Amino acid sequence: MAKMKAISKPKAAPGAELVMVDIPKPGPRDLLVKVKATSICGTDVHIYEWDAWSQGRIKPPLVFGHEFCGEVVEVGALVTGYKPGDYISAESHIPCGYCYQCRNDQQHICGNLKILGVDTQGCFADYVVLPEVCAWKNDKSMPPEIACIQEPLGNAVYTTLCEDVAGLNVAVFGCGPAGLLTVGVAKAASAGKIIHIIKHEFRRSISKQMGSDVIIKYDDPQLKEKVLKETNNVGVDVVCEMTGNTQAINQGLDIVRKGGRFTAFGIARETSIPVNLNSLIFKGARIVGINGREMYRTWYQMAGLLNSGRLNPAPVITHKFKLEEFEKGFAAMRSSDRQSAKIVLYP
Ligand SMILES: [Zn+2]
Ligand SMILES: [Zn+2]
Repeated sequence: MAKMKAISKPKAAPGAELVMVDIPKPGPRDLLVKVKATSICGTDVHIYEWDAWSQGRIKPPLVFGHEFCGEVVEVGALVTGYKPGDYISAESHIPCGYCYQCRNDQQHICGNLKILGVDTQGCFADYVVLPEVCAWKNDKSMPPEIACIQEPLGNAVYTTLCEDVAGLNVAVFGCGPAGLLTVGVAKAASAGKIIHIIKHEFRRSISKQMGSDVIIKYDDPQLKEKVLKETNNVGVDVVCEMTGNTQAINQGLDIVRKGGRFTAFGIARETSIPVNLNSLIFKGARIVGINGREMYRTWYQMAGLLNSGRLNPAPVITHKFKLEEFEKGFAAMRSSDRQSAKIVLYP
Protein backbone atom coordinates (compact mmCIF):
# COMPACT_ATOMS: atom_id res chain seq x y z
CA MET A 1 0.00 0.00 0.00
CA ALA A 2 1.25 3.48 -0.90
CA LYS A 3 2.51 5.56 1.99
CA MET A 4 2.55 9.28 2.74
CA LYS A 5 4.12 11.56 5.31
CA ALA A 6 1.92 12.96 8.04
CA ILE A 7 2.12 14.83 11.35
CA SER A 8 0.62 12.59 13.99
CA LYS A 9 -0.25 12.73 17.66
CA PRO A 10 1.03 9.18 18.24
CA LYS A 11 0.09 8.77 21.89
CA ALA A 12 -1.64 10.52 24.79
CA ALA A 13 1.22 12.92 25.58
CA PRO A 14 2.50 16.37 24.54
CA GLY A 15 4.17 16.84 21.14
CA ALA A 16 3.74 15.42 17.65
CA GLU A 17 5.73 13.23 15.25
CA LEU A 18 6.45 13.04 11.55
CA VAL A 19 5.35 9.54 10.50
CA MET A 20 4.77 7.48 7.36
CA VAL A 21 1.21 6.16 7.13
CA ASP A 22 -1.03 4.58 4.48
CA ILE A 23 -2.64 6.98 2.02
CA PRO A 24 -6.31 7.01 3.14
CA LYS A 25 -9.08 5.58 0.92
CA PRO A 26 -12.10 7.77 0.14
CA GLY A 27 -15.58 6.40 0.96
CA PRO A 28 -18.44 6.60 -1.57
CA ARG A 29 -19.22 10.26 -0.79
CA ASP A 30 -15.64 11.39 -0.13
CA LEU A 31 -12.85 13.07 -2.05
CA LEU A 32 -9.18 12.13 -1.81
CA VAL A 33 -7.27 15.41 -1.88
CA LYS A 34 -3.55 16.05 -2.40
CA VAL A 35 -2.75 18.79 0.11
CA LYS A 36 -1.12 21.91 -1.42
CA ALA A 37 -0.95 24.03 1.74
CA THR A 38 -2.18 23.77 5.31
CA SER A 39 -2.15 26.21 8.20
CA ILE A 40 -1.78 25.80 11.95
CA CYS A 41 -4.81 26.68 14.07
CA GLY A 42 -4.94 27.43 17.80
CA THR A 43 -6.82 24.13 18.11
CA ASP A 44 -3.77 22.33 16.71
CA VAL A 45 -1.62 23.99 19.36
CA HIS A 46 -4.02 22.66 22.06
CA ILE A 47 -3.67 19.17 20.54
CA TYR A 48 0.13 19.55 20.33
CA GLU A 49 0.35 20.70 23.95
CA TRP A 50 -2.10 17.98 25.04
CA ASP A 51 -4.17 20.26 27.29
CA ALA A 52 -7.26 19.23 29.28
CA TRP A 53 -9.57 19.79 26.30
CA SER A 54 -7.56 17.59 23.95
CA GLN A 55 -7.14 14.87 26.57
CA GLY A 56 -10.94 14.63 26.74
CA ARG A 57 -11.54 14.82 22.99
CA ILE A 58 -8.63 13.40 20.94
CA LYS A 59 -8.12 9.68 20.43
CA PRO A 60 -4.50 8.99 19.37
CA PRO A 61 -3.03 7.99 17.03
CA LEU A 62 -4.41 10.94 15.08
CA VAL A 63 -3.17 12.85 12.04
CA PHE A 64 -4.37 16.33 12.97
CA GLY A 65 -4.78 19.64 11.10
CA HIS A 66 -8.01 20.94 9.54
CA GLU A 67 -7.17 24.09 7.54
CA PHE A 68 -6.03 23.28 4.00
CA CYS A 69 -6.44 23.52 0.27
CA GLY A 70 -5.50 20.99 -2.34
CA GLU A 71 -6.23 19.17 -5.56
CA VAL A 72 -8.83 16.43 -5.82
CA VAL A 73 -7.09 13.27 -7.07
CA GLU A 74 -9.83 10.67 -6.59
CA VAL A 75 -13.59 10.75 -5.93
CA GLY A 76 -15.91 8.19 -4.30
CA ALA A 77 -18.45 6.26 -6.39
CA LEU A 78 -21.42 8.47 -5.39
CA VAL A 79 -19.67 11.85 -5.76
CA THR A 80 -21.15 13.93 -8.58
CA GLY A 81 -20.14 17.53 -7.79
CA TYR A 82 -16.35 17.16 -7.95
CA LYS A 83 -13.78 15.57 -10.22
CA PRO A 84 -10.03 14.96 -10.17
CA GLY A 85 -8.17 18.21 -10.85
CA ASP A 86 -10.61 20.42 -8.90
CA TYR A 87 -8.87 22.90 -6.59
CA ILE A 88 -10.69 22.91 -3.27
CA SER A 89 -10.54 24.22 0.29
CA ALA A 90 -12.12 22.50 3.25
CA GLU A 91 -14.97 23.40 5.53
CA SER A 92 -13.80 21.63 8.70
CA HIS A 93 -17.27 21.10 10.22
CA ILE A 94 -18.56 17.73 9.06
CA PRO A 95 -22.38 17.63 9.35
CA CYS A 96 -24.49 14.47 9.60
CA GLY A 97 -27.09 15.73 7.14
CA TYR A 98 -30.05 14.31 9.06
CA CYS A 99 -30.40 16.03 12.44
CA TYR A 100 -32.73 18.92 13.32
CA GLN A 101 -30.09 21.60 12.69
CA CYS A 102 -28.91 20.03 9.43
CA ARG A 103 -32.49 20.04 8.17
CA ASN A 104 -32.98 23.66 9.25
CA ASP A 105 -30.13 25.37 7.37
CA GLN A 106 -27.70 25.09 10.31
CA GLN A 107 -25.33 22.33 9.25
CA HIS A 108 -22.39 24.20 10.82
CA ILE A 109 -23.85 23.45 14.28
CA CYS A 110 -25.04 19.93 13.43
CA GLY A 111 -26.20 17.92 16.45
CA ASN A 112 -23.76 15.16 15.52
CA LEU A 113 -20.98 17.48 14.43
CA LYS A 114 -17.54 16.03 13.68
CA ILE A 115 -14.48 18.17 13.09
CA LEU A 116 -11.81 17.32 10.55
CA GLY A 117 -8.46 16.57 12.18
CA VAL A 118 -10.09 16.43 15.62
CA ASP A 119 -12.66 13.63 15.32
CA THR A 120 -11.34 12.34 11.96
CA GLN A 121 -7.91 12.02 10.30
CA GLY A 122 -6.73 15.51 9.35
CA CYS A 123 -4.73 17.36 6.74
CA PHE A 124 -1.17 17.68 8.14
CA ALA A 125 -0.24 15.12 5.50
CA ASP A 126 0.38 14.62 1.77
CA TYR A 127 -3.22 13.45 1.29
CA VAL A 128 -6.51 13.75 3.19
CA VAL A 129 -9.99 12.33 2.75
CA LEU A 130 -12.74 14.97 2.82
CA PRO A 131 -16.51 14.39 2.64
CA GLU A 132 -17.93 15.96 -0.54
CA VAL A 133 -20.28 18.12 1.56
CA CYS A 134 -17.23 19.85 3.12
CA ALA A 135 -15.50 20.83 -0.13
CA TRP A 136 -15.43 24.38 -1.51
CA LYS A 137 -14.21 24.90 -5.07
CA ASN A 138 -11.60 27.64 -5.54
CA ASP A 139 -10.62 29.64 -8.56
CA LYS A 140 -7.34 28.24 -9.91
CA SER A 141 -5.74 31.67 -9.58
CA MET A 142 -6.02 31.76 -5.78
CA PRO A 143 -2.59 31.35 -4.12
CA PRO A 144 -2.48 28.18 -1.95
CA GLU A 145 -1.48 30.14 1.19
CA ILE A 146 -4.66 32.22 0.86
CA ALA A 147 -6.87 29.28 -0.14
CA CYS A 148 -5.77 27.26 2.90
CA ILE A 149 -6.65 29.97 5.46
CA GLN A 150 -10.23 30.42 4.26
CA GLU A 151 -11.54 28.27 7.10
CA PRO A 152 -10.26 30.68 9.81
CA LEU A 153 -10.99 33.66 7.56
CA GLY A 154 -14.55 32.34 7.35
CA ASN A 155 -14.78 32.50 11.15
CA ALA A 156 -13.95 36.19 10.91
CA VAL A 157 -16.46 36.72 8.11
CA TYR A 158 -19.25 34.99 10.03
CA THR A 159 -18.41 36.78 13.31
CA THR A 160 -18.33 40.19 11.66
CA LEU A 161 -21.19 39.78 9.21
CA CYS A 162 -23.74 37.73 11.15
CA GLU A 163 -25.46 41.13 11.06
CA ASP A 164 -24.64 44.21 9.00
CA VAL A 165 -21.65 46.37 10.03
CA ALA A 166 -21.62 49.00 7.26
CA GLY A 167 -21.11 52.40 8.82
CA LEU A 168 -21.14 50.97 12.35
CA ASN A 169 -18.37 51.31 14.93
CA VAL A 170 -16.78 47.94 15.65
CA ALA A 171 -14.43 46.90 18.47
CA VAL A 172 -12.38 43.76 17.89
CA PHE A 173 -10.82 42.06 20.93
CA GLY A 174 -7.77 39.89 20.25
CA CYS A 175 -4.75 40.20 17.99
CA GLY A 176 -4.29 36.55 17.08
CA PRO A 177 -5.14 35.52 13.51
CA ALA A 178 -8.88 35.52 14.31
CA GLY A 179 -8.81 39.11 15.57
CA LEU A 180 -6.55 40.37 12.78
CA LEU A 181 -8.71 38.75 10.10
CA THR A 182 -11.84 40.18 11.74
CA VAL A 183 -10.38 43.68 11.49
CA GLY A 184 -9.80 43.04 7.77
CA VAL A 185 -13.35 41.81 7.23
CA ALA A 186 -14.86 44.77 9.11
CA LYS A 187 -12.79 47.13 6.96
CA ALA A 188 -13.75 45.35 3.73
CA ALA A 189 -17.42 45.45 4.76
CA SER A 190 -17.27 49.25 5.23
CA ALA A 191 -17.53 49.38 9.02
CA GLY A 192 -17.37 52.86 10.55
CA LYS A 193 -14.53 53.18 13.05
CA ILE A 194 -12.62 49.97 13.77
CA ILE A 195 -11.16 49.87 17.27
CA HIS A 196 -8.72 47.01 17.82
CA ILE A 197 -7.85 45.91 21.35
CA ILE A 198 -4.50 44.13 21.18
CA LYS A 199 -2.08 42.44 23.56
CA HIS A 200 1.06 41.70 21.55
CA GLU A 201 3.06 44.64 20.24
CA PHE A 202 4.37 42.63 17.24
CA ARG A 203 0.84 42.55 15.83
CA ARG A 204 0.29 46.32 15.88
CA SER A 205 1.64 46.82 12.35
CA ILE A 206 -0.38 43.87 11.01
CA SER A 207 -3.50 45.36 12.62
CA LYS A 208 -2.85 48.65 10.83
CA GLN A 209 -2.32 46.85 7.52
CA MET A 210 -5.65 45.05 8.02
CA GLY A 211 -7.41 48.37 8.47
CA SER A 212 -7.82 49.25 12.14
CA ASP A 213 -8.41 52.95 12.86
CA VAL A 214 -7.64 52.94 16.58
CA ILE A 215 -5.44 50.50 18.51
CA ILE A 216 -5.71 50.21 22.30
CA LYS A 217 -3.64 47.90 24.50
CA TYR A 218 -5.75 45.39 26.44
CA ASP A 219 -4.35 46.52 29.80
CA ASP A 220 -4.78 50.24 29.18
CA PRO A 221 -6.51 51.58 32.34
CA GLN A 222 -8.17 54.24 30.13
CA LEU A 223 -9.61 51.62 27.72
CA LYS A 224 -13.28 52.43 28.32
CA GLU A 225 -12.73 56.21 28.33
CA LYS A 226 -10.80 55.97 25.06
CA VAL A 227 -13.54 53.91 23.39
CA LEU A 228 -16.22 56.34 24.60
CA LYS A 229 -14.19 59.28 23.31
CA GLU A 230 -13.88 57.60 19.90
CA THR A 231 -17.63 56.91 19.74
CA ASN A 232 -19.15 60.20 20.86
CA ASN A 233 -19.77 58.78 24.34
CA VAL A 234 -22.09 56.14 22.89
CA GLY A 235 -19.98 52.97 22.95
CA VAL A 236 -19.44 50.66 19.99
CA ASP A 237 -22.30 49.26 17.92
CA VAL A 238 -20.60 45.90 17.57
CA VAL A 239 -18.09 43.97 19.68
CA CYS A 240 -16.29 41.00 18.10
CA GLU A 241 -14.78 39.05 20.99
CA MET A 242 -12.08 36.77 19.56
CA THR A 243 -10.10 35.85 22.71
CA GLY A 244 -12.33 34.00 25.20
CA ASN A 245 -10.45 35.87 27.91
CA THR A 246 -12.61 36.78 30.93
CA GLN A 247 -11.27 40.32 31.16
CA ALA A 248 -11.82 40.92 27.44
CA ILE A 249 -15.36 39.57 27.61
CA ASN A 250 -16.23 41.95 30.44
CA GLN A 251 -14.50 44.88 28.77
CA GLY A 252 -16.50 44.09 25.64
CA LEU A 253 -19.79 43.98 27.53
CA ASP A 254 -18.78 47.26 29.15
CA ILE A 255 -18.09 49.17 25.91
CA VAL A 256 -20.90 47.82 23.71
CA ARG A 257 -23.50 50.55 23.25
CA LYS A 258 -27.11 50.37 24.42
CA GLY A 259 -28.91 48.16 21.92
CA GLY A 260 -25.61 46.94 20.50
CA ARG A 261 -24.35 43.51 19.49
CA PHE A 262 -21.76 41.47 21.44
CA THR A 263 -20.44 38.71 19.19
CA ALA A 264 -18.80 35.86 21.10
CA PHE A 265 -16.32 33.78 19.10
CA GLY A 266 -13.35 33.25 21.46
CA ILE A 267 -13.74 30.09 23.49
CA ALA A 268 -13.51 30.75 27.21
CA ARG A 269 -10.98 28.63 29.09
CA GLU A 270 -13.30 28.42 32.08
CA THR A 271 -16.75 27.12 31.25
CA SER A 272 -18.44 29.43 33.74
CA ILE A 273 -17.20 32.97 33.96
CA PRO A 274 -18.62 35.91 35.90
CA VAL A 275 -20.24 38.47 33.60
CA ASN A 276 -22.23 41.58 34.38
CA LEU A 277 -25.53 40.27 32.99
CA ASN A 278 -27.55 43.16 34.39
CA SER A 279 -25.57 45.67 32.37
CA LEU A 280 -26.43 43.67 29.24
CA ILE A 281 -30.12 43.55 30.19
CA PHE A 282 -30.40 47.26 30.95
CA LYS A 283 -28.52 48.03 27.75
CA GLY A 284 -30.94 45.96 25.72
CA ALA A 285 -27.85 44.49 24.07
CA ARG A 286 -27.62 40.97 22.71
CA ILE A 287 -25.02 38.23 22.63
CA VAL A 288 -24.57 36.24 19.44
CA GLY A 289 -22.56 33.00 19.69
CA ILE A 290 -20.48 32.10 16.66
CA ASN A 291 -19.21 28.62 15.84
CA GLY A 292 -17.72 27.72 12.49
CA ARG A 293 -19.06 29.22 9.29
CA GLU A 294 -22.56 29.11 7.86
CA MET A 295 -22.57 26.43 5.17
CA TYR A 296 -22.28 27.96 2.74
CA ARG A 297 -23.56 31.52 3.08
CA THR A 298 -20.33 32.59 4.83
CA TRP A 299 -18.16 31.07 2.08
CA TYR A 300 -20.04 32.95 -0.64
CA GLN A 301 -19.69 36.21 1.31
CA MET A 302 -15.97 35.51 1.81
CA ALA A 303 -15.50 34.82 -1.93
CA GLY A 304 -17.29 38.07 -2.70
CA LEU A 305 -15.03 40.06 -0.37
CA LEU A 306 -11.85 38.38 -1.67
CA ASN A 307 -12.84 38.82 -5.32
CA SER A 308 -13.65 42.49 -4.74
CA GLY A 309 -10.02 43.04 -3.76
CA ARG A 310 -11.13 44.83 -0.58
CA LEU A 311 -10.18 41.92 1.68
CA ASN A 312 -6.53 40.86 1.61
CA PRO A 313 -5.60 38.42 4.39
CA ALA A 314 -1.95 38.14 3.25
CA PRO A 315 -0.45 40.36 6.03
CA VAL A 316 -1.70 37.86 8.64
CA ILE A 317 0.53 35.11 7.17
CA THR A 318 3.89 35.62 8.87
CA HIS A 319 5.67 32.29 8.38
CA LYS A 320 5.88 29.55 5.75
CA PHE A 321 7.58 26.21 6.38
CA LYS A 322 7.75 22.77 4.84
CA LEU A 323 5.44 20.28 6.54
CA GLU A 324 8.53 18.44 7.83
CA GLU A 325 9.50 21.62 9.69
CA PHE A 326 6.27 21.61 11.71
CA GLU A 327 8.24 21.91 14.98
CA LYS A 328 9.41 25.38 13.86
CA GLY A 329 5.80 26.30 13.14
CA PHE A 330 4.55 25.18 16.54
CA ALA A 331 7.47 26.92 18.25
CA ALA A 332 6.55 30.18 16.50
CA MET A 333 2.87 29.75 17.46
CA ARG A 334 3.80 29.14 21.10
CA SER A 335 6.49 31.83 21.52
CA SER A 336 5.63 34.02 24.49
CA ASP A 337 6.09 37.29 22.59
CA ARG A 338 3.91 36.01 19.71
CA GLN A 339 6.24 37.11 16.91
CA SER A 340 3.91 35.32 14.52
CA ALA A 341 0.32 35.17 13.34
CA LYS A 342 -0.80 32.62 10.72
CA ILE A 343 1.69 29.90 9.84
CA VAL A 344 1.43 27.95 6.60
CA LEU A 345 2.99 24.52 6.03
CA TYR A 346 3.64 22.97 2.62
CA PRO A 347 3.68 19.17 2.28
ZN1 LIG B 1 -9.08 26.09 12.90
ZN1 LIG C 1 -26.63 17.06 11.66
